[in-house]
Amino acid sequence: MLADRALRFAAIDGTQLVRDAQQTHGLSRVATAALGRQLLMTSVIATLCKNATDTVTTVLAGNGPSGNLVCVGRSGGAVKGYATNPDVELPLRADAKLDVRGYVGTSGKLTLIRDLGLKEPYVGMCNLISGEIAEDFAQYFTASEQQPSIVYLGVHENAADGFVTGAGGLLIQTMPNCPDEAIERVMAIADRIPTLGTRLADGEALNDILHDLFRDLDATYTDTYTPAFSCDCSRERLERALISIGRKELTELIEQDGKAELTCQFCGKSYQFDRAALESLLAEATDNGGTDEQ
Ligand SMILES: [Zn+2]
Repeated sequence: MLADRALRFAAIDGTQLVRDAQQTHGLSRVATAALGRQLLMTSVIATLCKNATDTVTTVLAGNGPSGNLVCVGRSGGAVKGYATNPDVELPLRADAKLDVRGYVGTSGKLTLIRDLGLKEPYVGMCNLISGEIAEDFAQYFTASEQQPSIVYLGVHENAADGFVTGAGGLLIQTMPNCPDEAIERVMAIADRIPTLGTRLADGEALNDILHDLFRDLDATYTDTYTPAFSCDCSRERLERALISIGRKELTELIEQDGKAELTCQFCGKSYQFDRAALESLLAEATDNGGTDEQ
């Protein structure tokens, strides 16, 4: 909390998390920066969920060469994600920075899905305004959730080999009835916030950086999380997916292929189903499965 609890914040050092995502998907340098920023933000949003089983899915669908960028965060800060086109590389911008906007695109949608265990998930959406991701999330919170927010996301990589030297993010949001004076106090330190990424890349600890950034803001620290890039896929989950395609499709699959191999988009793990396994799933499937046919 900041400024006598008038605002709340969540900050993340996701350096290792972004390295793991880069390695899992063979991300290009620009894809590492883009998906990395989104993974950081998705993890931060997920830690603000109330219940342990809540999840947050974010989808960036821009008009750039990235295709869709999809991330899913769980309440403890664990996050998974993928890009449709992970190996697209773009030339550096004129200022020698990675061209995240060129990769994501400058028009399209940002969708945020909160699954709180209710019958229907909560789905919010806004148009992309920047393609640099942090500005897009700030716009989303303000326009779609009526929650004025400051968002910083930074992924630092070695120019030569793309090694991630530091990746950090920060979200600051007003609490109800936040006085203008508290907002002014936070805005007064806004130009310090972008130092978070460079200081993480220099090896400073997140706690030390925050204590320094917020030194004038009466910061209190209420929770600590350990974020990670990790997938929660399982054979059981894919069995349910196969059952849901219905008897007709499953029967065709067994007769034509006699086996199935499913690969998790989020982590690349593949699952094999032989004829006997598919037949036992067929016994559980219903006639209409995922189709409208009766
Ligand atoms: Zn997986």
